[in-house]
Amino acid sequence: MTNYLVVGSGLFGATFAYEAAKRGNHVKVIEKRDHIAGNIYTKEVDGIQVHQYGAHIFHTSNKEIWEYINQFVEFNRYTNSPVANYKGEIYNLPFNMNTFNKLWGVATPAEAAAKIAEQRKVLGDKTPENLEEQAISLIGTDIYKKLIKGYTEKQWGQKATELPAFIIRRLPVRLTYDNNYFNDTYQGIPIGGYTQIIEKMLDSDLIDVETGVDFFDKKQEYIDQYDKVIFTGMIDQFFNYQLGELEYRSLRFETEEMDIDNYQGNAVVNYTDAETPYTRVIEHKHFEFGKGDKNKTIVTKEYPANWSRGDEPYYPINNDKNNRLYKAYRDLSSTEPKVVFGGRLGQYRYYDMHQVIHAALQVVKDELKD
Ligand code: FAD
Repeated sequence: MTNYLVVGSGLFGATFAYEAAKRGNHVKVIEKRDHIAGNIYTKEVDGIQVHQYGAHIFHTSNKEIWEYINQFVEFNRYTNSPVANYKGEIYNLPFNMNTFNKLWGVATPAEAAAKIAEQRKVLGDKTPENLEEQAISLIGTDIYKKLIKGYTEKQWGQKATELPAFIIRRLPVRLTYDNNYFNDTYQGIPIGGYTQIIEKMLDSDLIDVETGVDFFDKKQEYIDQYDKVIFTGMIDQFFNYQLGELEYRSLRFETEEMDIDNYQGNAVVNYTDAETPYTRVIEHKHFEFGKGDKNKTIVTKEYPANWSRGDEPYYPINNDKNNRLYKAYRDLSSTEPKVVFGGRLGQYRYYDMHQVIHAALQVVKDELKD
């Protein structure tokens, strides 16, 4: 039997804790926020599950992962079909025949393909050197101007001409009338929210959970006290930023309760113009097909924000410079044989939920050899 300390009660930490306890190990989970579940935390307000840290849609093509998560919760048949609002004009996403029809009046895939090909010509033979050129080379000028430029510049806080092309190496473009954002085999929203998944994972006599506790208050004591530490916080912070700071993008959420049933008719609306300061508006009840109070709705605006120490590090910025620095931290982690770094912040990777579970189960395999 091993005594584990898991730092962070997000999906990575909870998956590890669940598997470790299942095998008879003791697990202490500490969480610096005042609640469990990390960024997948949902909270019920007026019978509506509010995604406190941004819209979360579970999607995967990995049957094992889908079956794994389904042991904890039942999913509904939600299909992500966001719409874009460009100065009041509404377009379907991802870019598909519905988008092209609204934009250009074209009805067939051949007409749409011809339009895109014609608009790409402005670039000539030039190899795209920045995000603007890359987007135009993929989808033409109209979609770039109305649906990509403003949104992306807000998201990254930089001009599209200054952003690297690699950010949009691929764009989901479909020549079919299909508004389903994901190509994955399985997707949905857990009926009753995400928090219950983590509650069930941590519900064991062998797991002790404490919230409102920061690992860094007693770092060395913790490391000495436990046989092994699974750390899902920021890897650069763990090493006291001694090799330099990794970069992140942050977000600010503004949530409002309204005395109406239906505000925007869709769970996710992207605001793609440059003037609107937020990127997305989420109306939570639509993730569960309008469940909840009929006279209320809860709406969250998502504002992208620069990150500095102390802010929530929502997105790692995986450019070459940061990836090199992360690798240096990973090399440094060999000096801490009792610590395993995992999850979105510990591995400095933009992980979706299914990828986080997969990564945690990989650590389980290495660590808890059956
Ligand atoms: P986290 O959920 O961040 O958990 C880490 C936990 O560690 C946190 O609770 C944190 O408070 C705690 N912690 C950190 N440092 C310390 C410390 N020093 N002491 C104690 N505790 C600490 N994925 C999808 O599949 N679909 C989506 O639609 C989707 N949408 C997203 C939207 C947004 C806005 C964001 C930010 C992410 C989205 N994701 C989505 C990704 C998803 O949130 C992650 O894959 C998942 O939550 C990562 O789990 P984690 O355990 O690695 O990290």
